Amino acid sequence: MGSSPPGCLRCRRQMEVGYLLDRGMNDKSRVGEWIAGEPDNRWWGLRLPEKTKRYPTVAFRCPDCEMVELRAEKSSRG
Ligand SMILES: [Zn+2]
Repeated sequence: MGSSPPGCLRCRRQMEVGYLLDRGMNDKSRVGEWIAGEPDNRWWGLRLPEKTKRYPTVAFRCPDCEMVELRAEKSSRG
């Protein structure tokens, strides 16, 4: 189960659940992840540290003011 949508910080409307799309290798669609630390940019792309905290992100969107709130959840499967 994911999180239940929070209320918008601006207008208090109930937000919609969604996620950020990440187009990775071979244009494969994935859910964008939160990665701890500064991005290590290389000429071929980002170098990811071997041991780091990384969590899938959940994006909540307000239908009124269109603000997006990101959460990086420790575990979406319990
Ligand atoms: Zn709002």
